[in-house]
Amino acid sequence: MGSRLPVVFVGHGSPLHALDDNAYTRTLSRLGREIGKPKAVLCVSAHWMSEGTWATHMARPKTIHDFYGFPRELFEIRYPAPGSPKTAELLRETAAPRKVQLDDEFWGLDHGAWAVLRHMYPQADVPVVQLSVYIEQPGAYHLDVGRRLAALRDQGILIIGSGNIVHNLRMISWAKDPAPYDWGREFDGFVRSATEDGAYDALAGDPRDMPGGALSVPAPDHWYPYLYCLGAGGGDRVRWEYEAIENASISMRCASFGR
Ligand code: ZN
Repeated sequence: MGSRLPVVFVGHGSPLHALDDNAYTRTLSRLGREIGKPKAVLCVSAHWMSEGTWATHMARPKTIHDFYGFPRELFEIRYPAPGSPKTAELLRETAAPRKVQLDDEFWGLDHGAWAVLRHMYPQADVPVVQLSVYIEQPGAYHLDVGRRLAALRDQGILIIGSGNIVHNLRMISWAKDPAPYDWGREFDGFVRSATEDGAYDALAGDPRDMPGGALSVPAPDHWYPYLYCLGAGGGDRVRWEYEAIENASISMRCASFGR
């Protein structure tokens, strides 16, 4: 492990992946092994949408089951990783003058964080801080906060964004291995090329103006975590760790920067 940690973006898709053992989950396990255990994880999750930017500040964050209609087994999962109040405080200082508020009781670890982390760090022995998505802010805000947080990579903190580049739940298909929609493939490919070209500021624009973006990003909650990764990645070389479109309308694309 070098002194500067990489940044990881994970397309998380269905909560059921928390229970799976497949090519996707094995990619997450491999990433955890290859990166090694950081001092702490900072996870920006699509599932914590807020007014203002918040970070979990509790020593013992609870496991949040923020979904409905899934098997009981999924609700029984606990991910008992400790929090890290010190990391949350350092994050607040590092993000300045962007304002980060510290949360001592409301949130915890939602499935955007634990469904991913239980594959990366199955022993739950790495402290985790979650960062919320200030949902009313435009893409440029999220890219900028990500850029400020890049300094945490030198402090032993692994930044993980958890969302999905293409995420349209209304258009989801439950057929077996359905073909991806053209617009999903188009947007996923566009993001891939624009990332490789370093066109980060263009990606922070309105997704509705990008090829295939209107249907791929009908709401920005799962998209914004990617912008944190671009910002924190600081132009470091991207590696596509995993690529697939599931249920026709969910891109499971995973990326690392600086690895
Ligand atoms: Zn999600």
